Amino acid sequence: MLNAVIRYGSGPFWAIGAEMTTHNTASDAANTAVRAYLTTLGEKYLGHGFNTGSGRGKRIWLEIQESFQKRCVYCDQEASRLTIEHLVSFNRETGGLHHPGNIAPCCPSCNRRRKEDGLEVDWRTHLADITERDEHPIAVFRARQRRIEEHIRNYNHPNLTDDEMAAISTIAKSLYEAVATEVKRGTDLYWAIHQSMISKAQP
Ligand SMILES: [Zn+2]
Repeated sequence: MLNAVIRYGSGPFWAIGAEMTTHNTASDAANTAVRAYLTTLGEKYLGHGFNTGSGRGKRIWLEIQESFQKRCVYCDQEASRLTIEHLVSFNRETGGLHHPGNIAPCCPSCNRRRKEDGLEVDWRTHLADITERDEHPIAVFRARQRRIEEHIRNYNHPNLTDDEMAAISTIAKSLYEAVATEVKRGTDLYWAIHQSMISKAQP
């Protein structure tokens, strides 16, 4: 339904702000665009910027780490390097927002989730996987789940309805397709120019 009304103007999606890596694919560009969209949307709900690397955003991220005693949100271990975990995954399928209520500290090993039918499991299932792996009683799972739910509330994460979440994800998928298509279109366009230059150069 939404696909019919969503259009991405005529402008190309050049330079979305991805850092140059040694090999950039169309899907890298498309994923970066999706993350930019989920970041700006999270910031719109928040009412200000949320760059965890500097200024106010960095202070909030440090405060969140402190609130979890600098421990991993899932396995509760102290880690020398805590990564940013988006509880609702930060991708086009689930459309998790870059918002303080959706981020928590996580150790590198818990940062990867199991997939089911090609999609990452949600944070509750991931937490259940880890507490089961560590042979904790169900009470431990429940306590950690409550702590996460409190965190989401404390940071005023918007209480999104299923329809709103579906809309966020539908737009993210549309954006992904639009960027990937632009990369291909640019390549095809140049190649056509190149071929015509070759044929003109023939005697
Ligand atoms: Zn962990």
